[in-house]
Amino acid sequence: MKTRIMLIAVALLMLVHGCNGIGSGNKLVPVLVPAPELKSNDVFLKVAYVFNPAFPARSTEDINAMLAFTVLVAKEHLGLNITFSKVATLDIKDVFDQIPQKITDHIDPLIIDIHKDNFTRQDKDVYAKLLAETLSENSSTYEEELAFTQDHLDPKYTVRSEKGLVLTLTNTIFSRVKAYKQFLGNNPYNEWLYWQALGYTDLGYDILITNQPIISIETIDTDIHHALRGGISVGSASFNKASEFRARVFWSTFTFFQQHEVIRKLRGGMDYTDEEAIELSGAYLTHELGHMLLHLDHPFGRKECVMTPVPLLDVKTWYEDLDAPSCAIGSSKAMTPGAMKLYMFEKFM
Ligand SMILES: [Zn+2]
Repeated sequence: MKTRIMLIAVALLMLVHGCNGIGSGNKLVPVLVPAPELKSNDVFLKVAYVFNPAFPARSTEDINAMLAFTVLVAKEHLGLNITFSKVATLDIKDVFDQIPQKITDHIDPLIIDIHKDNFTRQDKDVYAKLLAETLSENSSTYEEELAFTQDHLDPKYTVRSEKGLVLTLTNTIFSRVKAYKQFLGNNPYNEWLYWQALGYTDLGYDILITNQPIISIETIDTDIHHALRGGISVGSASFNKASEFRARVFWSTFTFFQQHEVIRKLRGGMDYTDEEAIELSGAYLTHELGHMLLHLDHPFGRKECVMTPVPLLDVKTWYEDLDAPSCAIGSSKAMTPGAMKLYMFEKFM
């Protein structure tokens, strides 16, 4: 089953599909980004905190405590000795102002505006078509998709067919996303595609941590988790032209500290103390480092693996299930360095 957390290859290939109609002269051609050749297990990563004053700030102490936890989990599960730089603080407006217009011109038409009060039939039809393609192409059977979905649906829904699953998930994302309108500003900072686009700027950090919620619906990339969450993303590893590893992680701490009822439901009804939120956010960030530094993929169904994505937002259960000795690097195809394909577009450079 695919996941929102790291769909670079699929997302960018689909972005190519999404731009097919603009003519061959303007066609985007994806280029494979080679996996980094680490000279040793010691890795130094430059970190920035992208701050939006519209949301509660995390202190430098909180972020350092979170990263300290990432260091521990990365050592245990990835065998890497991570050292983080001093965390630079950047204003989110200054950061987003660096995205060139030639890129926003490409991605804006692929975004469904979630600020509006009502979605059109066309919004839902385009999304449902994409979701149907996604579900038919992923590595899970309909029965597995249904079993996973049914546990996390509104009880009012009963799914009886593949088509019904698509329609139910479509209704779910468009209905749940409405609850997050209060977290949106009059800006594109919530847009996952804009965070991806930052990889084509000269911003040279390996990790961008933000207090900004990343909540969006696109017509080029989706999956069951993203639909069930109502469009929430926690983070991604994606191409980055201006850093040593040619990839960068962006990471939102928003949902870890948020007590909104809908988000609490996605956590399995749990509230996290600040201390738990810091530790769980730090632990889960390790998953993205596995994508970024080793190009590991998702070993679905193996709860012991740090590279298995968190279903919904129940990070605590995910963390409690991890068991590093049972999921060594190289122990399966997905856990073999280079398994994940990461792409970029030269045209955006
Ligand atoms: Zn992932």
